[in-house]
Amino acid sequence: MTELSDLPIRDSLKGRTPYGAPQLHVPIALNVNENTHRIPEPVALDVVSRLAAAVININRYPDREFSTLREKLANYLGFGLNANQLWAANGSNEVIQQIFQAFGGPGRKALGFHPTYSMYSLIALGAETDYVESDRADRYELTPELIRAAIAEHQPDIIMLCSPNNPTGTPLSLSCIEAAYEATSGIVVVDEAYAEFSHGQEQSAISLLPNRPRLLVSRTMSKAFAFAGARLGYLAADPAVIDALRLVRLPYHLSAFTQAAAEAALDHSKELLATVADIQVQRDRLLVELAELGYDPYRSDSNFVLFAGVEDPNAMFEALLARGILVRNVGIPNTLRVTAGTPSETTAFLEALADLTHRG
Ligand SMILES: *Cc1c(COP(=O)(O)O)cnc(C)c1O
Repeated sequence: MTELSDLPIRDSLKGRTPYGAPQLHVPIALNVNENTHRIPEPVALDVVSRLAAAVININRYPDREFSTLREKLANYLGFGLNANQLWAANGSNEVIQQIFQAFGGPGRKALGFHPTYSMYSLIALGAETDYVESDRADRYELTPELIRAAIAEHQPDIIMLCSPNNPTGTPLSLSCIEAAYEATSGIVVVDEAYAEFSHGQEQSAISLLPNRPRLLVSRTMSKAFAFAGARLGYLAADPAVIDALRLVRLPYHLSAFTQAAAEAALDHSKELLATVADIQVQRDRLLVELAELGYDPYRSDSNFVLFAGVEDPNAMFEALLARGILVRNVGIPNTLRVTAGTPSETTAFLEALADLTHRG
C-alpha cells in the first residue's frame, strides 16, 4: 500500500497532521463551537426556495463578484461599511488562506499568540509562510505592551489576533489592536469568528477600520448564524485589500448555491441570531457552575468555555464521550473546552461532569 511518505510531497508537509477535530455522531456534540440550535423552519424553507431559484441558471457561472451578497454583508455589519469593503469565501478559513496567499509567502513571517486557533499555523504552512507564536500573559490575556514587544522581536508581515480568542475565550481590547497596528507596517488580521457572542459588540475591530488600510477583520456565518454547513466566511477591510484578494482567489470561488443560501440567511439575520442571547446565558452558566464544581474556567466572550483543573483530560474526554457528550481536548494540560449548547445540552454536560468529578 502506498503511504503518504512514499509520495514526492513538499518537504515542509512531510510528517505533518491535518486539522482533525473528531466528527463523531453523538447525542450531544459540544466540541467545535457550532450553534447547536437548528435554524427555524420558515428560514429553512426560504433558503430552499432561493436554492431552487438559483438552480434555474446553474448552467452559467455564478456572479464572480457576489455583489448582492457583499451588499447584504455590509448592511448586516453596519459601521457605515460599503460593499466594496467586503469580501467573502467558503468559510473564514478560506478568507484567511487568501490573506496568506496575498500577504504571506516564502521569506515572510506571521505572528500569533499562543494558545490560539490551530488553523493559523496550518494555513501558514500551506502558504510557505513562517509562523511564530508568542506567549500570552497570565490567564491567556493580551496587553498592548506584550503585543508591541512580540512585534518588535519577530518583525512579522502578518499578525493574527483572534478576538475573542479560540480556544481560551479571552476578549481582546481595542487598545491591543491599535497597538498592534501602530507597531507594524505589516497586515493586522482580527479574527472575529465569535464577535456576536461578546459582551460589547461596539468593541468590534470594525470600528477601527477608518484610516487603517492594513487592518483586516474576518467574520463567519459558521458560529452565531447557525450556518456552519453552508461555508460562508467574510472580511471587512479597505477596498485595496479586497483588490489584493482578487489576485489569489479562484475564479467563481463562491458557488451560486452558497451565494443564494447566504443571502437568504442574511435576510433572516434577526431570526437566526435570536438564539445568541440564550447561548450567552448558557455560557455564563457554565462559568458559574464549573467553578462551583471546583474547576477553574477562564473568562469567555465567546460561545465556549475553557476550564482548567481537569486531572486527566483524556480520561475525562473519554468518560464524557461514553455518555454521549463530545467536548474538545485542545492539548492544553489539565484543561478541556466545551461549547455552550441549548439549556438541556448544557445541563446534561454539567450533570455528567458533576457525576464524574465526584467519582474521581
Ligand atoms: C470556527 C472558527 C473560524 C470559522 O471558520 P469557518 O471556516 O468560517 O467555518 C474562524 N476562526 C476561528 C478562531 C474559529 O474558531
